Amino acid sequence: MAVFDKVGRFMETTLILLKPDCIAGRLAGEVLKRFEGAGFQICGCKMFRADAGVLREHYAHIATKPFFPEVETFMQSTPVIALALAGENAVERVRDLIGPTDSRKAAKGTVRGDFGLDVMVNMVHASDSPENAQIELRRFFKDGELFDYGMRYTTKA
Ligand code: ADP
Repeated sequence: MAVFDKVGRFMETTLILLKPDCIAGRLAGEVLKRFEGAGFQICGCKMFRADAGVLREHYAHIATKPFFPEVETFMQSTPVIALALAGENAVERVRDLIGPTDSRKAAKGTVRGDFGLDVMVNMVHASDSPENAQIELRRFFKDGELFDYGMRYTTKA
């Protein structure tokens, strides 16, 4: 999966999940506004229920932790929204916008700092490296569900 800007430069793409607290809290628009406002472009977007298999794969690094069953229940409590966002240095910049895992330690002005509850209920997932971003984009998007369409219009905003 590769996205290029209008002069043909590779645009890094990252995978975001809007988690159940974000969805149930009607904060999906607010979070997306922040990402778009920071210059990221949506190249994929879908809502679905995360099944046990995909969660076990996605959270393989925490699957043996005692808190994993709780994470699984939380992540299945509503549908989630997956976003593919492209932009310069997208992985690192999106991680900066969301803040650290524990919402209580996240700075005001970050998504988790402003809206997250604690270490589990923390609004969003975002890929933590360009390598993982490629793996995670393939995990949640099939061929034909990611789009490279360029910046075609200017808007008043
Ligand atoms: P991040 O999502 O910031 O990359 P991790 O990969 O370490 O963080 O953890 C994955 C997710 O598992 C977290 O976003 C959070 O929802 C949950 N989680 C992590 N640590 C804990 C914990 N100690 N207790 C409960 N849930 C946790």
